[in-house]
Amino acid sequence: QGRNTWQWYQGDGKQAISEHALLRHDLDTALRENQFELYYQPIVDAVSGQICSVEALVRWHHPRHGMVSPGIFIPIAEQTGQIIPLGRWVLEQACRSLADLHAKGERVYPVAVNISSLQFRRDGFLDEVRRILKETGLPPELLELEMTESILLGGAEEAIEMIRILDGMNITVAIDDFGTGFSSLSYLRDLPIHKIKLDRAFIRNILTDHSSAAIVQGIIAMAHHMGLAVVAEGIEEREQQLDLIRRDCDMLQGFYFARPMPWEDLLTLPNPLPEGVRGGN
Ligand code: C2E
Ligand code: MG
Ligand code: MG
Ligand code: MG
Repeated sequence: QGRNTWQWYQGDGKQAISEHALLRHDLDTALRENQFELYYQPIVDAVSGQICSVEALVRWHHPRHGMVSPGIFIPIAEQTGQIIPLGRWVLEQACRSLADLHAKGERVYPVAVNISSLQFRRDGFLDEVRRILKETGLPPELLELEMTESILLGGAEEAIEMIRILDGMNITVAIDDFGTGFSSLSYLRDLPIHKIKLDRAFIRNILTDHSSAAIVQGIIAMAHHMGLAVVAEGIEEREQQLDLIRRDCDMLQGFYFARPMPWEDLLTLPNPLPEGVRGGN
């Protein structure tokens, strides 16, 4: 089923359900016992390969199952509400490590943290961000938040107001998985966001499928007219990079440049990144 996933079960659905319940239970333990780790994946300037920022991606070291993919446990954590403590841990951890490095004068990159819409829409999210920035002393310019269009469901007005406040705090907001959501484009007019991230689904077929290429081309043109930067996710080969440069895409992220990896490993990367640098997972 693609990269970075593993099979839970074979056979009938019954077992799948009990495994799901087990995983839920294991998530509680994982939160208590600190089984999570953040990996970071570079986002590079499309043309130069210079690292512009990194995306924090959570990893779960399960004591029996090994590394579990967030593609599996984030949706479960969203169903159960466990995403709230987990999301808070991710934000705190990312800000704290970055602030420590920054204070020591080490090389740092702005870090993009994924925020689940459940987390965003919960009362007190902005206070939580303020508290974490204050406690860690992280300059807000070093924090980016990635959210999907689903933050607009159940009250676009409120979400727009919150993004305005984040913008006022100098925090960059990016719309993640752009083009796969259900919302109308008109919201882009009202949102003070800075970036959109084109979903990997469009990039995967960009070289072979005329419609995917046309959608990508159109989104880039529209975003640029609105003063937004465009990041393309899931770059796996040089031809995709070249194609996206031709289409004037600003930034790229994908295994072709580097996989997500622990922060220590980021520091050993050459910058600008040449093709095909390997990372962790
Ligand atoms: P996302 O935010 O769209 O993150 C990008 C995903 O694409 C990551 O998967 C990354 O490893 C993967 N990726 C990057 N380049 C390539 C490539 O060239 N080819 C392929 N096939 N994949 C690539 P990952 O780390 O498994 O995370 C999956 C999703 O889980 C994320 O998608 C995000 O929605 C969610 N997630 C991960 N960490 C967090 C977190 O801390 N909080 C929340 N709320 N969600 C998270
Ligand atoms: Mg993301
Ligand atoms: Mg994404
Ligand atoms: Mg995605």
